[in-house]
Amino acid sequence: MTTLDPTLNCDRLATLAHGLRALLTPGTEIRTREPLAKRTTLRVGGAADLFVEPQTEGDLGLLLGWSADHGLPVTVLGRGSNLVVRDGGIRGVVLSLAHEGLSRIEVDGTRLRCGAGARLKAVSNEARKAGLTGLEFLEGIPGSVGGALRMNAGAMGSETFKSVERLRFMGPAGEVSDLAVSEVAVEYRCCPLLKTHIALGAVFVGQPATPEEIRARMDQFNTKRWTTQPPQPSAGCTFKNAPALPTGKLVDELGLKGTHIGGAMVSGLHGNFIVNLGNATARDVLALIEKVKQCALDERGIELQTEVEILGED
Ligand code: FAD
Repeated sequence: MTTLDPTLNCDRLATLAHGLRALLTPGTEIRTREPLAKRTTLRVGGAADLFVEPQTEGDLGLLLGWSADHGLPVTVLGRGSNLVVRDGGIRGVVLSLAHEGLSRIEVDGTRLRCGAGARLKAVSNEARKAGLTGLEFLEGIPGSVGGALRMNAGAMGSETFKSVERLRFMGPAGEVSDLAVSEVAVEYRCCPLLKTHIALGAVFVGQPATPEEIRARMDQFNTKRWTTQPPQPSAGCTFKNAPALPTGKLVDELGLKGTHIGGAMVSGLHGNFIVNLGNATARDVLALIEKVKQCALDERGIELQTEVEILGED
C-alpha cells in the first residue's frame, strides 16, 4: 500500500487518475481537482482531489479496493444538500452515485426499487404515477436516496425508514449485503450503519390511493414548505432540534435572524437556515454556526448540535 501524499500535486493526481481509468468501465466518470461548491446546495467549499462517479456496483467495489491500496480516504457525496464542504476541499476520493446506472427506479406493485443515486423528488413522483401514497414527503427534500437513507431524512411527520422495506449496501471491502429494515438500527436523522457502509439502494413501499388524494397531499406539503423556507442556497436545517423547542424558534427568540458574517446569513424567514447571499465562503458559514451555538449556550445553556455534515479541510 502506498501512503497518501498530503499535497497531491497535479502530476501525481493525473497519474492516479490514469491508473484508475484503466481499471474501470468507460462510462465511469473520473475527474481531478473537481470543484465541489457546484455539487452542494449551499454552494460553498473547495475541490475534491479525485472525483469518481461509478457506472456500476462492480466499478464501485473496484474503486474502494483501489483507494485502500493507495491509502486514499473515500468520502461519499449524495446531492450535497446536507453538507458544508470546507474551503480547502476534500482530500482523496469523493464518490458520487448519481450515474444513471445507479439511480434507477423500478416500480413493482406497491414497491419501488430505488438506486442510491435517484433523486427523492423522482421517487415521490414515480410513486404518484403508480397511484401510491406515503412517499409525498420526499418530494421537497432536495437529496438522493443514498443521502436520505444515511440521514434518515424526514419531513411532514414522516421519515425515510418508515417507508423502507429493504436496504442494499456495500461494505468497505466491496461486499454487497441486502437486509430487511427490521435488521437495521435507525435513529433520528441517522442510520449508523451507513457511516461505514455505502447505501446502494432501497425498496420503498407505498399504499394504494387515488391520484386526487396523492396530489392534495403533495400540494399541501409544497405550500407549507415554500412558505416557511428561504429561497436562497442553503443546506436545509443547520442544527438538530433542541429537546425543549424547535431550533428555528430558539434562534428567533435569541434575536439572531438576519445576523450575517461575510456572505452567510441566518435566514429572516426560518432561524434554523443559514443561507448563502451569493458570495459566502465555508469559513463565513462555519463562523456563523459558531456564533449561533455560542449565543444559545451563553443565553439559554443549550448546546446545539449541527444537523449538517461538515467535511473537508480549511
Ligand atoms: P448529502 O448531503 O450529499 O450527504 C449527506 C450525508 O450522507 C453525508 O454524510 C454523505 O457522506 C452521506 N451519504 C450520501 N450518500 C450516501 C450513500 N449512498 N451511502 C452512505 N452515505 C451517503 N432534510 C430532512 O431530513 N428533511 C427536510 O425536510 C429537509 N429539507 C431540506 C430543504 C432544503 C432546502 C435543503 C437544502 C435541505 C433539506 N434537508 C432536509 C437536508 C437534506 O436534503 C437531507 O439530509 C438529504 O437526505 C441529504 O441527501 P443528499 O443526497 O443531498 O446527501
